[in-house]
Amino acid sequence: MINLFHKNIAHGPEYVCTCCDQLWYKCSVVKCDAKQYKACSQDVVKSCLTGFKSVKATEWICITCDSNLKKGKLPSCSKANKMGFPDKPDILNLTSLEEGLISPQIPHRSGSQAFSYCRVA
Ligand SMILES: [Zn+2]
Repeated sequence: MINLFHKNIAHGPEYVCTCCDQLWYKCSVVKCDAKQYKACSQDVVKSCLTGFKSVKATEWICITCDSNLKKGKLPSCSKANKMGFPDKPDILNLTSLEEGLISPQIPHRSGSQAFSYCRVA
């Protein structure tokens, strides 16, 4: 069980959901295929699928957004539902650790990184 967990998180949350812009582990995303969302109006599909590509130059979608779109619903966390992340203000000049600690996208990762730093020190 622990080995499976370590295998699933070995590559970190690097997969960006095209719809909600959150970072996910591989086990939480699927390749995006607009043809699967026939229950949705084309306007909703167009507004949700941004074409953003991340790992392996592929457009990924998280299983929550995927499930909502397959049911014909607008995903509640989607950028199309005005739930996108704001850009970082230029006035913030942070180190990568500081950035990770306050990031709304990767809080658990930044926490474990901070923990690793504490253990090494
Ligand atoms: Zn999503």
